[in-house]
Amino acid sequence: MIKDNIQKIINDIEEIKKTSFSSSGVTIIAASKMQDELAIEKALEAGIKDLGENKVQEFKEKYDIFKDRANFHQIGSLQSNKAKDVLGKVKLIHSLDRMSLLKTIEKRAIRDDLYQDCLLQVNVAKEDTKSGFYLEEVDEFLDQIETCERVKLKGLMTMAPYYDNHEDARWVFDKLKEKFDEIKDKSYDNISMEYLSMGMSHDYKEALKSGSNMIRIGTAIFGKRNY
Ligand SMILES: *Cc1c(COP(=O)(O)O)cnc(C)c1O
Repeated sequence: MIKDNIQKIINDIEEIKKTSFSSSGVTIIAASKMQDELAIEKALEAGIKDLGENKVQEFKEKYDIFKDRANFHQIGSLQSNKAKDVLGKVKLIHSLDRMSLLKTIEKRAIRDDLYQDCLLQVNVAKEDTKSGFYLEEVDEFLDQIETCERVKLKGLMTMAPYYDNHEDARWVFDKLKEKFDEIKDKSYDNISMEYLSMGMSHDYKEALKSGSNMIRIGTAIFGKRNY
């Protein structure tokens, strides 16, 4: 079943690629929070190479088991005092959502002598329930990134509000793609726009149509989570 679910997503990606401009590869990140080893094993067998985790404790357990077979991503919000546990181990921190976290990561990365790739989380729709920078705050943040030695910004991430009609989320994805292209066209130190991380189980097709090249999928791969 997990295998079929993944195949369906791959087919959707192929289908959407035919009709939209995006030609670059799309990375499927399996959002594996709350999933056990067996489920993750099945996802990897079906071709998944990237796992997204929310909680640092869960990440640590899974990292030990799967680190040789998958790239890990920190997709959930990251407490500053736990940043040290993921640094140098995750391919990307998607949830760089505040200035103080940037400072914490930079400081710790210097101390541990490593580099860390991150995505800037943007709260495009300004929802109270979500973290991230507002679009108009992004430029100021880029200036800060330019002064870093160890943090490299590789792109942008967002979570759209939930809309019953998933097409209604397109404006959010289009806005972030616009910002992504704007930054890409300029030249900054420490910043290269490679990844646009947007789209989850219910809205990944819409995100892909807007140019996402990294989707974070939980439920549509593993089924409903038992919270
Ligand atoms: C859980 C989670 C996802 C995946 O959510 P689904 O709706 O299950 O696909 C994506 N992004 C983040 C940040 C998450 O926490």
